Parts: sequence; structure tokens; C-alpha cells
Amino acid sequence: MSGESEHPTDADEHAGETEELDEETRARRDAALRHVRRLGDPVLRAKALPVERFDAELREEARRMGELMHDALGVGLAATQVGILHRLLVYATSAEEPVTVLVNPELGWVSEEREAAEEGCLSIPGVHVEVERPARVRVTARDVHGGELEIEAEGLEARVIQHEIDHLDGVLILDRISREARRDAMRALREAREGRSDERALDPTPA
Ligand code: ZN
Repeated sequence: MSGESEHPTDADEHAGETEELDEETRARRDAALRHVRRLGDPVLRAKALPVERFDAELREEARRMGELMHDALGVGLAATQVGILHRLLVYATSAEEPVTVLVNPELGWVSEEREAAEEGCLSIPGVHVEVERPARVRVTARDVHGGELEIEAEGLEARVIQHEIDHLDGVLILDRISREARRDAMRALREAREGRSDERALDPTPA
């Protein structure tokens, strides 16, 4: 996407940067990724339920998700990806930006203009696919205290929000691409799994 050169990969994974990671950052990322559910886990296909209680437990979930996302070098994370069926997502389109938490997000208006860009997903490591989505969106949500939020987003932010709301509905990037693209993606995924020991593999399982 033009103007987003800092983020070669959109949505919840910053894969373009992983090759130059120092050991400590890599170890922290791998530890965080152990908490993220992978493609094949049925929870990723479940529809999350609206949050009704804006309590300390919710705030702790959001805090923990923000931490995991940061450590995993992601730009977004949905609760379903950590096995929690709450309509809750976090995102930060750059490491310097504070984490935004959206509870019970609803896509309102979306632009007719659509944009295609590459996306990765922490739940589908090793796979990057071009996904077309509305370029601009308006989203309503609650914050962790139950306060009303309305966000207008474009560019990477709009993309991440849509990617994460998809997760809350059990929808993955593989569902948003053509059959041919999906076939190529599945091949890349198999190769990433088989090449577990090589440098490219993102699978955090030791040995
Ligand atoms: Zn994802």
C-alpha cells in the first residue's frame, strides 16, 4: 500500500521485519505466539459473543492481548485468536502508537472504494495473501469501561480493524481470496510447517 512502506505486511502480522530480529525479540515473539491459536483450531471458526460486563476481568483480557500482540510483533489481535469468545480486539498500527481496544465493534459505513494489499495473520504463519477490502470504514464500539467509541479509519488502520472483526465472526483471510490464491497459500503454509527448522519457519514449537 502506498504511504505505508514502514509496514510491508498488513493486518495482524509484521512478517517483513522478522528476518532482522535480535535473539531476545525473537524469543519474546516465539513465547507470545505459543498463546495464539493456529489455523485448524476450531475456535478460529467460532463466532464470538458480545461482551456484557465491563469489569476488571475484561480489562485484564484486553491488557494481556495488547501485550501478546506487541510481543508477537503484530498490529492487531482478536480475542478468538487466544481462545476467548468475546467480541474484543486490539490493534496498534505501529509499535510507538498506544494500543486501541475495541469491545463489541460494529462496522457501520464502508467506502465503495476498495483497496487490495498484502495481509498476514498470526494464526496462519508463513502465509501472505493479497486481500481486497473497503478502503475506509466507520466503526462503532465500546471501550473497556463501556464508553462509546466511534472511529473513522483508512489505510492500514481500516484494514486491521476489518481483519480483526472478521476473526470475531470466524472469518479468515483465506476466505477472502480466490480459490487459486487459497491453493497457493495452503502450499506456502505446508512448506512453512515442513521447514520448521529453517530460518523462515514461524512455528514457535521448540525442536
Ligand atoms: Zn489474523
